[in-house]
Amino acid sequence: MTGIDSLRNVLELERRKGYTDKAVIGGLDKYLHKQAGQIRQIINNPQLVSGFDELNLANSNYGSYGVGERKRWMANVFGWLDKLEATKTNSSQKAAAEPRQKQGGGLDLPLTVIKGIALSVANKFAKLNVRTVGDLLYFFPRRYVDYSRIKPISELIEGEEQTIIGTIWEARVATLGNRRGTEAIVGDKTGNIRAVWFNQPYLAKNFRTNARIVISGTVGRFKGQKEFESPAWELLGDKELIHTGRLVPVYPLTQGLYPRQVRKWTKETVDGYVGQLNDFLPSEIKTRCQLLDLPDAISQIHYPNDLTMAERARGRLSFDELFLLQLGVLARKRDWKEGQPGNAFHVDQEVISKFLQCLPFTLTQAQERVLREILTDLKQAKAMSRLLQGEVGSGKTVIATLALLIAAANGYQGALMAPTEVLAEQHYTNICGYLSQVGTQEPDSEAGEGTIRCYTGFLSRPLTIALLIGSLSNNEKERLHDKIKEGKVDIIVGTHALIQKEVEFKKLGLAVIDEQHRFGVLQRSALRQKGFNPHVLVMTATPIPRTMALTLYGDLDLSVIDELPPGRQVVKTKCLEPQYREKAYTFLHREVSNGRQAFIICPLIEESEVLEAKAAKTEYERLSREVFPGLKLGLLHGQMPGNEKEEVMRHFRAGELDILVSTSVVEVGIDVPKASVMMVEGAERFGLSQLHQFRGRVGRDKEQGYCLLIPEKLSPEARERLRLMEKVHDGFVLAEKDLELRGPGEFFGTHQSGLPDLKLAKLTDLRSLELARQEAITLFRSDPNLKKAEHQPLRQQLSRVWAKGAEWS
Ligand code: ADP
Ligand code: MG
Repeated sequence: MTGIDSLRNVLELERRKGYTDKAVIGGLDKYLHKQAGQIRQIINNPQLVSGFDELNLANSNYGSYGVGERKRWMANVFGWLDKLEATKTNSSQKAAAEPRQKQGGGLDLPLTVIKGIALSVANKFAKLNVRTVGDLLYFFPRRYVDYSRIKPISELIEGEEQTIIGTIWEARVATLGNRRGTEAIVGDKTGNIRAVWFNQPYLAKNFRTNARIVISGTVGRFKGQKEFESPAWELLGDKELIHTGRLVPVYPLTQGLYPRQVRKWTKETVDGYVGQLNDFLPSEIKTRCQLLDLPDAISQIHYPNDLTMAERARGRLSFDELFLLQLGVLARKRDWKEGQPGNAFHVDQEVISKFLQCLPFTLTQAQERVLREILTDLKQAKAMSRLLQGEVGSGKTVIATLALLIAAANGYQGALMAPTEVLAEQHYTNICGYLSQVGTQEPDSEAGEGTIRCYTGFLSRPLTIALLIGSLSNNEKERLHDKIKEGKVDIIVGTHALIQKEVEFKKLGLAVIDEQHRFGVLQRSALRQKGFNPHVLVMTATPIPRTMALTLYGDLDLSVIDELPPGRQVVKTKCLEPQYREKAYTFLHREVSNGRQAFIICPLIEESEVLEAKAAKTEYERLSREVFPGLKLGLLHGQMPGNEKEEVMRHFRAGELDILVSTSVVEVGIDVPKASVMMVEGAERFGLSQLHQFRGRVGRDKEQGYCLLIPEKLSPEARERLRLMEKVHDGFVLAEKDLELRGPGEFFGTHQSGLPDLKLAKLTDLRSLELARQEAITLFRSDPNLKKAEHQPLRQQLSRVWAKGAEWS
């Protein structure tokens, strides 16, 4: 960046800041004195040079002017800059060829261009994903400390965060406790106060007698006197305060980065570069939604004038996130619909009725509706892309089975991918169960081991279904691979094993993905790519509100099964104070002696799966030894190797264990017909949706299911939350409550992959979401490909934000 660009940026910033002389640290005059000579050297046109000299920037007096004078002065300088600009574009071909290049170029510079940021520091920032100047502008504080309340020393109140401005009377290295530190006496017109800094003897030399200092912190008391203990401090000079006396930003830090330094650097970066930000939002939208300009929003989110401005900054920046998210989703949906010719299936009603007639139940209305939606999609000559939401036990698998049958009837292969072996086995068994109601099973001479089955009576030819999981022997796997490749298997149920590169389908026409949130982006698209634009059906038992679903999965069409099969029991749920735990154990004993099984979930330890596993192990041992010595207990946790986990779940499902002690890894969707009790320890640590999922594991049979929630500590909020579990049995309602109470970060965990980062936006803020969505739709309608000139910055921003997100459906 040339000196002239930087001059223009600084002045633009100053203008935006309302001529407050806050654009650069130390004030504009100081900056100009330093820069003027350098700038003069670059000008090569004599007329412009004399104009420049007239401005006399080297000896400017901006700081002493009133606002009116400052404006006039500024207008003069801009006038000159514009003249300079004009001659440049006339004379220089190059400049005309790259008119946009200069704007924003500085933002891609590495952090080391910031004064004081050495390579070693930049490396630390890199750990926080901050690599460029632009990244640092978007490195937002987590919160602010309010040091804006400046008080006379005599009015300081013990126990409150306050700020004083005073003069240092005396400062020295002192022994505090038994460590060396710094002690200072600071006074103002109203009195004196002692300030101490533990373990920081080196500070003393910064505190010259008679220097003016600002001190912010909580006022304490020592030997009857008020004092500041290790307060934030800042010498009062000609710089804008950044550590004290204002709303002070608190940044997320990493080892070796200190708050004071980080603030200095962010301030410097904001002051020096914010003017280079290209505000990509069309001004129409900004006006309509009353949003701040981008440079202001960035300045204010770091160093807000007050809380209202901080809030407005947050509003603008989170709007950006949601708006870009929506635009990207809309574009994907369009690409998907337009760009994906698919295979139109013929839907043979006879196959469907034959299947339905043989089921031991009739479909619920919701199932019928969803089935119609799916069949309509399958008939189109474009690939289906549909998300099927439905509570645990709402009967998604039957619907998926029908869709797979239709694919087979059309001579295509269908695949169903589940996140774990146990789930895949369960699906396989269930689907075979349905099929055996209709067709007759033909022994498959080659297979025999239960991983391939063959049914006649459905289609004009035998229908073959296979299970492909990682724990098969290599021989078995290879045989299956061959058969899949030769098209000798119609329906393949499996795990990740389905997307290994050895697996080649002859003609994949439908891919069903169960429990979508368990799969990463790449795995899902890997399955899709196994066929030529197969229809894709994604299933999830994690219900989320519609607006949010449209945002996150906006490129998928949405079907919802919002009704459970009739006669489904409500799992009786009770929250028990910890002192009644014994009663719960007695209850478990009784259920087990009646032939039932139980889950005991151990508390969630967020920071560490290792600790969680350890705690679960200890609990398992305690329960085995002291509480249920006569029963067969199993243990399940995330640190166990995959095959061991699968093994334990298999035992439990087969009824060989009475009680399964588990961390939260206990699989969503696993069906254990005889399990009747779900006991959750540390219940207040789980989200409502998760508790609801746990609860869905029991009462799958005719027998009454029970869920016992045992909190560790019961705050009033926790009590209220857990009471909801007792009363509410609708997963959607609980999910919405959960999002409201805990926020989306917790709700989605780390499963947001593939979406652009949401640093500020809250997906629970359905109003903002709706606003951003409406604006995105409006814009998309008027300029779907963002071709208009005024939308170019937006288009660039969009591709930047979405660059990392691969296909994720
Ligand atoms: P999901 O996958 O949505 O959790 P499933 O498809 O596994 O649910 O169905 C749960 C249980 O309910 C299965 O045993 C299934 O046979 C049964 N089921 C499905 N639909 C119905 C229905 N309409 N009426 C009665 N039972 C049903
Ligand atoms: Mg299921």
